[in-house]
Amino acid sequence: MIDKRGHYIGGAWVESRDGQEHVVIDPSTEEEAVRITLAGPQDVEAAVAAAREALPAWSDTDPAERRALVERILDQYKRRERDLAEAISREMGAPIDFALAEQAAAFPYHTKAFLRAFDTLEWMRPADGGRTKGAMLAWEPIGVVALITPWNWPANQIALKVIPALLAGCTMVLKPSEQAPLSACVVAEMIDAAGCPPGVFNMIQGDGAGAGARLSSHPDIQMVSFTGSTRAGRAITVAAADTFKRVTLELGGKGANLVFADADEEAVERGVRHMMENAGQSCNAPSRMLVERPVYERAVEQARALAEETRVGPASEPGDHIGPVVNARQWEHVQGLIQKGIEEGARLVAGGPGRPEHLNRGFFVRPTVFADVEPGQSIERIEIFGPVLSMIPFDTEDEALRIANDTDYGLTNYVQTADEERRRRLARRLRAGMIEMNGQSRGEGAPFGGTKASGRAREGGIWGIEEFLELKSISGW
Ligand code: NAD
Repeated sequence: MIDKRGHYIGGAWVESRDGQEHVVIDPSTEEEAVRITLAGPQDVEAAVAAAREALPAWSDTDPAERRALVERILDQYKRRERDLAEAISREMGAPIDFALAEQAAAFPYHTKAFLRAFDTLEWMRPADGGRTKGAMLAWEPIGVVALITPWNWPANQIALKVIPALLAGCTMVLKPSEQAPLSACVVAEMIDAAGCPPGVFNMIQGDGAGAGARLSSHPDIQMVSFTGSTRAGRAITVAAADTFKRVTLELGGKGANLVFADADEEAVERGVRHMMENAGQSCNAPSRMLVERPVYERAVEQARALAEETRVGPASEPGDHIGPVVNARQWEHVQGLIQKGIEEGARLVAGGPGRPEHLNRGFFVRPTVFADVEPGQSIERIEIFGPVLSMIPFDTEDEALRIANDTDYGLTNYVQTADEERRRRLARRLRAGMIEMNGQSRGEGAPFGGTKASGRAREGGIWGIEEFLELKSISGW
């Protein structure tokens, strides 16, 4: 078992003052994997105090100095890439090749995009194109920020918060998910080795009810940037209200993927693979595949074959299989919804309840496809966060649009059609923060974020940096 019982506070690894021990279970083996200490109230106080103390000097640095630090963090990534991937693979069950190629790689990907965006930021500019003499706009760091991240794409989420906060001139307390403590330790070591001034970046291990709640209501914190469940997003918003914090939320999703009869040959395969990736544990998973009636049965058959071909296995094994879901609670949640799908009358065409036959331990789920899912059924409404696809036939574009938009969520929707007019119509009418068409993913530096119960943050690129800045209006400059 790996011991990681300290927190990174004020530029050093320190023992917990008043924390409680917590053991992370390896989702592939169900064995005890990592021992951490969940931060107690004094640990939280110490981390916030260190960040507050470091704020005046850090917020006053030349932007070039902050940029140079981030460049050095990127250098560290090159040395620690493998460690980061192994940490992620172990703690949340992503197969090692996927952890290396996608999960860990998200860290430099976002960091480089932030650096490019940073270079275009105008810290001080005329307010109205110079028409009013002496009217200026200034960007200033918002202050001490709390960064609360989930376990499903841990390095991705940490990069999307820590890097822009550093560039903006904020000081911070990162609280990673208690399910993904190892990857956060690797990142903290990288930041330390890059020579970050003490107190600028602090990392405490902790859970939501303890450290997470304390950070969310702490009077010395000006902003909480959160990624995770809609439930926790709501709790944080309430907890942060008394102290008027800025709260940015990246929450869950129930993405619709509209497949029209004229879609390209790979459209269904792309959708199924994207759904199964990361064992279905992505907030932007295209979990509802809406298919135009004339090609519906063929698509169902294709999805069935693809789900049955999807291999499932332990995270430590090389290969392009999918791993387990993250923990016992998540396994139960997914199993409960698979059962609900059957009970509510959807047609089970692949997978189903229980583990894949060849695996008798670990939180593994059978890649599952339901057809003839009715709008309003549980598996069509609730975010499953497992390798489970719901397929729904439609007859007209309006019907597809109605079903797609009839959800509490609004993160990513997908459109597959050769018809350019239709693509453009749907891109405007689908209600979500992101629309991806014909398999083209977002451009580098394009913001990631949603609407409605998916939260309203915009992370990545220039928008992701601006989230950590306050705009000051000055006249008589
Ligand atoms: P979670 O909400 O349980 O936990 C996320 C983080 O919040 C953890 O660090 C946890 O300790 C903390 N937390 C929990 N309750 C809290 C509270 N009351 N106050 C403060 N902090 C609290 O979510 P999870 O299970 O770790 O992650 C899965 C969820 O995250 C899914 O719903 C998924 O869709 C969502 N997600 C969204 C995005 C996005 O960008 N929109 C990205 C990844 C994950």
